[in-house]
Amino acid sequence: MREFEILRQKALAFNIELSNEQMEKFREYLALLENFNRHTNLISSTDPQTVVIKHFLDSLAPGPAFKETGLNRELKLIDIGTGGGFPGIPLLIAFEDWKLYAVDSIAKKLEFIGILCEKLGLSERVEIVCVRAEELGKIPGKREAFDFAVTRAVAQMSVISEYCLPLVREGGYFAAYKAKSAEQELKEAENAISMLGGKALKTFKYTLTGEEERNLIIIKKVSPTPRKYPRRTGVPVKRPLSGPC
Ligand code: SAM
Repeated sequence: MREFEILRQKALAFNIELSNEQMEKFREYLALLENFNRHTNLISSTDPQTVVIKHFLDSLAPGPAFKETGLNRELKLIDIGTGGGFPGIPLLIAFEDWKLYAVDSIAKKLEFIGILCEKLGLSERVEIVCVRAEELGKIPGKREAFDFAVTRAVAQMSVISEYCLPLVREGGYFAAYKAKSAEQELKEAENAISMLGGKALKTFKYTLTGEEERNLIIIKKVSPTPRKYPRRTGVPVKRPLSGPC
């Protein structure tokens, strides 16, 4: 299929060289998504072009940013609100020494991730956990335990900062995949990020095959997150952190 050739070439332009074996994993991923999506809503369209470009490639696109921040080494990645596995699973396929903690609050979606990882031979590098991010951030052994947290299409920047930054160790990173709204969202979340122990490092801009701008906001964890964060389940969405409190 043409879209897989585009995936291979574009990934290369993003500094990620995919082997035949890795390409085969992406093909199997697409087939399983098509099947599972018939009864469980994981993504809005399983059209191959959409899945391969808008989901697989988008998940991989920030490759150069990962290299710049020194993140392309063995690390513990956490994907909050992984849904159909984005961006965590494509990253796990591409970076073969990473380990993934895949989190979502909906068990049915995680059932898919379990089947997928089994089929792709990724199970040994993945832990799948059905929990709310707000609860996970309070659990000793999980709090400030990850090198790198990622999240895509889950909530606005200040909300996902409260979900993700408590989980990242000092010196680690949090990366948020965003569309055009990135600059504005980052501006509105600046106080929240700093209250949570983060510092905005850079926003990596990229495009997929069209002109539509995509952004990866990269935050570095520079100091421990105060104990009072994350707040109770549901509170970060209802009352997003904005100013000093
Ligand atoms: N990240 C995937 C993607 O880019 O396609 C899925 C995005 S989907 C729109 C948002 C996902 O985040 C859903 O699967 C939802 O269950 C999960 N989610 C939302 N809030 C959450 C929370 N507080 N804790 C854990 N998962 C959450």
